[in-house]
Amino acid sequence: MTLKKQADTIRTILKARYPDVKTQLDYHTPFELLIATILSAQCTDKQVNSVTPKLFQKLSTPQAFADAPLELIEELIHSTGFYHNKAKNINACAKALLENYGGIVPKTLEELVKLPGVGRKTANVVLGAAFGIPGIVVDTHVSRIAGRLGFTAQSDPAKIEQDLMKLIPKKDWSDFSLHLVYFGRDLCKARKPDCPACPVSELCPYSEKSQ
Ligand code: SF4
Repeated sequence: MTLKKQADTIRTILKARYPDVKTQLDYHTPFELLIATILSAQCTDKQVNSVTPKLFQKLSTPQAFADAPLELIEELIHSTGFYHNKAKNINACAKALLENYGGIVPKTLEELVKLPGVGRKTANVVLGAAFGIPGIVVDTHVSRIAGRLGFTAQSDPAKIEQDLMKLIPKKDWSDFSLHLVYFGRDLCKARKPDCPACPVSELCPYSEKSQ
Protein backbone atom coordinates (compact mmCIF):
# COMPACT_ATOMS: atom_id res chain seq x y z
CA MET A 1 0.00 0.00 0.00
CA THR A 2 1.38 3.44 -0.87
CA LEU A 3 1.79 6.00 1.89
CA LYS A 4 -0.90 8.14 0.27
CA LYS A 5 -3.36 5.23 0.24
CA GLN A 6 -2.45 4.43 3.83
CA ALA A 7 -3.08 8.06 4.81
CA ASP A 8 -6.46 7.96 3.01
CA THR A 9 -7.51 4.85 4.94
CA ILE A 10 -6.37 6.25 8.29
CA ARG A 11 -8.11 9.55 7.53
CA THR A 12 -11.38 7.71 6.82
CA ILE A 13 -11.14 5.67 10.02
CA LEU A 14 -10.40 8.71 12.19
CA LYS A 15 -13.16 10.70 10.52
CA ALA A 16 -15.65 7.97 11.41
CA ARG A 17 -14.36 7.80 14.98
CA TYR A 18 -14.44 11.58 15.51
CA PRO A 19 -17.22 12.83 13.23
CA ASP A 20 -17.66 16.20 14.89
CA VAL A 21 -14.36 17.95 15.56
CA LYS A 22 -13.73 21.58 16.39
CA THR A 23 -11.18 23.69 18.21
CA GLN A 24 -11.58 23.44 21.96
CA LEU A 25 -10.85 27.14 22.43
CA ASP A 26 -13.86 29.35 23.21
CA TYR A 27 -14.25 32.47 21.05
CA HIS A 28 -16.87 34.71 19.47
CA THR A 29 -14.86 36.54 16.82
CA PRO A 30 -11.75 35.87 14.71
CA PHE A 31 -9.90 38.40 16.88
CA GLU A 32 -10.82 36.57 20.08
CA LEU A 33 -9.68 33.29 18.50
CA LEU A 34 -6.39 34.88 17.49
CA ILE A 35 -5.73 36.04 21.05
CA ALA A 36 -6.89 32.73 22.57
CA THR A 37 -4.60 30.79 20.22
CA ILE A 38 -1.60 32.94 21.14
CA LEU A 39 -2.42 32.25 24.79
CA SER A 40 -2.67 28.49 24.15
CA ALA A 41 1.10 28.14 23.57
CA GLN A 42 2.47 25.87 26.32
CA CYS A 43 -0.96 25.90 27.97
CA THR A 44 -4.09 23.74 27.86
CA ASP A 45 -7.17 24.95 26.00
CA LYS A 46 -9.12 24.46 29.22
CA GLN A 47 -6.87 26.87 31.09
CA VAL A 48 -7.10 29.42 28.27
CA ASN A 49 -10.90 29.13 28.34
CA SER A 50 -10.88 29.87 32.07
CA VAL A 51 -9.04 33.15 31.43
CA THR A 52 -10.58 34.54 28.24
CA PRO A 53 -14.11 35.46 29.46
CA LYS A 54 -12.73 38.00 31.95
CA LEU A 55 -9.98 39.07 29.53
CA PHE A 56 -12.44 39.83 26.71
CA GLN A 57 -14.81 41.50 29.13
CA LYS A 58 -12.08 43.98 30.09
CA LEU A 59 -10.40 44.25 26.68
CA SER A 60 -12.68 43.50 23.76
CA THR A 61 -11.10 45.13 20.69
CA PRO A 62 -7.67 45.41 19.03
CA GLN A 63 -7.67 49.09 20.08
CA ALA A 64 -8.29 48.14 23.73
CA PHE A 65 -5.43 45.60 23.66
CA ALA A 66 -3.14 48.09 21.90
CA ASP A 67 -3.88 50.81 24.47
CA ALA A 68 -3.76 48.58 27.54
CA PRO A 69 -0.73 48.77 29.85
CA LEU A 70 1.33 45.58 29.64
CA GLU A 71 0.88 45.09 33.40
CA LEU A 72 -2.89 44.86 32.97
CA ILE A 73 -2.64 42.28 30.17
CA GLU A 74 -0.12 40.33 32.24
CA GLU A 75 -2.42 40.30 35.22
CA LEU A 76 -5.35 39.08 33.14
CA ILE A 77 -3.45 36.26 31.39
CA HIS A 78 -1.07 35.36 34.21
CA SER A 79 -2.31 31.78 34.73
CA THR A 80 -1.67 30.77 31.09
CA GLY A 81 2.09 30.87 31.71
CA PHE A 82 4.86 32.77 29.90
CA TYR A 83 2.75 35.82 30.58
CA HIS A 84 5.49 38.43 30.06
CA ASN A 85 6.09 37.31 26.48
CA LYS A 86 2.47 36.60 25.73
CA ALA A 87 1.37 40.04 26.97
CA LYS A 88 4.08 41.73 24.92
CA ASN A 89 3.12 39.74 21.81
CA ILE A 90 -0.61 40.33 22.22
CA ASN A 91 -0.09 44.07 22.68
CA ALA A 92 2.23 44.25 19.65
CA CYS A 93 -0.12 42.03 17.62
CA ALA A 94 -3.07 44.34 18.34
CA LYS A 95 -0.99 47.38 17.34
CA ALA A 96 0.14 45.69 14.09
CA LEU A 97 -3.45 44.66 13.32
CA LEU A 98 -4.53 48.29 13.63
CA GLU A 99 -1.59 49.71 11.72
CA ASN A 100 -1.44 47.20 8.88
CA TYR A 101 -4.87 45.60 8.55
CA GLY A 102 -7.34 48.24 9.79
CA GLY A 103 -7.99 46.24 12.95
CA ILE A 104 -9.38 43.30 10.95
CA VAL A 105 -7.86 39.81 11.29
CA PRO A 106 -6.50 38.96 7.82
CA LYS A 107 -7.53 35.81 5.99
CA THR A 108 -4.21 34.68 4.54
CA LEU A 109 -1.35 32.78 6.08
CA GLU A 110 1.19 35.22 4.65
CA GLU A 111 -0.48 38.20 6.33
CA LEU A 112 -1.20 36.42 9.61
CA VAL A 113 2.39 35.26 10.17
CA LYS A 114 3.59 38.86 9.88
CA LEU A 115 1.79 39.64 13.14
CA PRO A 116 3.91 39.50 16.32
CA GLY A 117 3.45 36.25 18.23
CA VAL A 118 1.75 34.53 15.29
CA GLY A 119 3.47 31.51 13.75
CA ARG A 120 2.16 29.09 11.16
CA LYS A 121 0.41 26.99 13.79
CA THR A 122 -1.57 29.92 15.21
CA ALA A 123 -2.29 31.24 11.72
CA ASN A 124 -3.62 27.87 10.55
CA VAL A 125 -5.84 27.51 13.63
CA VAL A 126 -7.38 30.92 12.89
CA LEU A 127 -7.75 30.27 9.16
CA GLY A 128 -9.41 26.88 9.70
CA ALA A 129 -11.68 27.64 12.65
CA ALA A 130 -12.63 31.28 12.02
CA PHE A 131 -12.69 31.39 8.22
CA GLY A 132 -13.05 27.78 7.05
CA ILE A 133 -9.79 28.05 5.10
CA PRO A 134 -7.94 24.71 5.30
CA GLY A 135 -4.59 24.57 7.06
CA ILE A 136 -2.50 21.84 8.70
CA VAL A 137 -1.98 22.71 12.36
CA VAL A 138 1.16 21.06 13.68
CA ASP A 139 0.88 20.88 17.45
CA THR A 140 2.42 18.36 19.82
CA HIS A 141 -0.20 15.67 19.04
CA VAL A 142 0.03 16.11 15.28
CA SER A 143 3.83 15.98 15.19
CA ARG A 144 3.98 12.94 17.47
CA ILE A 145 1.30 10.90 15.68
CA ALA A 146 2.41 11.86 12.17
CA GLY A 147 5.84 10.49 13.12
CA ARG A 148 4.46 7.28 14.62
CA LEU A 149 2.30 6.65 11.57
CA GLY A 150 5.29 7.12 9.27
CA PHE A 151 3.79 10.19 7.57
CA THR A 152 6.94 12.18 8.30
CA ALA A 153 10.49 11.66 9.45
CA GLN A 154 10.89 15.36 10.28
CA SER A 155 10.86 17.04 13.67
CA ASP A 156 10.62 20.63 12.44
CA PRO A 157 6.92 21.65 12.47
CA ALA A 158 7.17 23.51 9.14
CA LYS A 159 8.58 20.39 7.46
CA ILE A 160 5.99 18.12 9.08
CA GLU A 161 3.34 20.50 7.75
CA GLN A 162 4.79 20.19 4.24
CA ASP A 163 4.83 16.38 4.44
CA LEU A 164 1.21 16.25 5.60
CA MET A 165 0.10 18.74 2.95
CA LYS A 166 1.35 16.30 0.32
CA LEU A 167 -0.50 13.33 1.85
CA ILE A 168 -3.83 14.88 2.85
CA PRO A 169 -6.32 16.49 0.44
CA LYS A 170 -6.41 20.25 0.97
CA LYS A 171 -10.08 20.38 1.92
CA ASP A 172 -9.33 18.06 4.87
CA TRP A 173 -6.24 19.81 6.24
CA SER A 174 -7.96 21.49 9.21
CA ASP A 175 -10.20 18.55 10.12
CA PHE A 176 -7.36 16.04 9.79
CA SER A 177 -5.26 18.10 12.22
CA LEU A 178 -8.15 18.09 14.68
CA HIS A 179 -8.69 14.34 14.18
CA LEU A 180 -5.09 13.76 15.23
CA VAL A 181 -5.51 16.05 18.26
CA TYR A 182 -8.62 14.13 19.39
CA PHE A 183 -6.84 10.82 18.67
CA GLY A 184 -3.79 11.96 20.62
CA ARG A 185 -5.84 12.84 23.67
CA ASP A 186 -7.90 9.68 23.42
CA LEU A 187 -5.62 6.77 22.37
CA CYS A 188 -2.31 7.70 20.80
CA LYS A 189 -1.04 9.44 23.92
CA ALA A 190 2.49 10.71 24.30
CA ARG A 191 3.66 8.39 27.05
CA LYS A 192 1.59 5.25 26.65
CA PRO A 193 -0.27 4.88 23.37
CA ASP A 194 -3.08 2.35 23.64
CA CYS A 195 -2.03 0.33 20.58
CA PRO A 196 -4.15 -2.76 21.41
CA ALA A 197 -7.31 -0.61 21.26
CA CYS A 198 -6.20 1.43 18.26
CA PRO A 199 -8.37 1.29 15.12
CA VAL A 200 -5.40 2.00 12.84
CA SER A 201 -2.82 -0.25 14.49
CA GLU A 202 -2.56 -2.53 11.45
CA LEU A 203 -1.39 0.44 9.42
CA CYS A 204 0.98 1.84 12.04
CA PRO A 205 4.71 1.09 11.86
CA TYR A 206 5.19 2.27 15.45
CA SER A 207 2.73 -0.37 16.63
CA GLU A 208 4.57 -3.10 14.75
CA LYS A 209 7.84 -2.00 16.28
CA SER A 210 6.49 -1.94 19.80
CA GLN A 211 5.13 -5.50 19.62
S1 SF4 B 1 -0.94 1.77 16.89
FE1 SF4 B 1 -0.30 2.85 18.73
S2 SF4 B 1 1.27 4.28 18.07
FE2 SF4 B 1 0.18 3.60 16.24
S3 SF4 B 1 -1.39 5.15 15.92
FE3 SF4 B 1 -2.31 3.52 17.12
S4 SF4 B 1 -2.07 4.15 19.27
FE4 SF4 B 1 -0.67 5.38 18.02
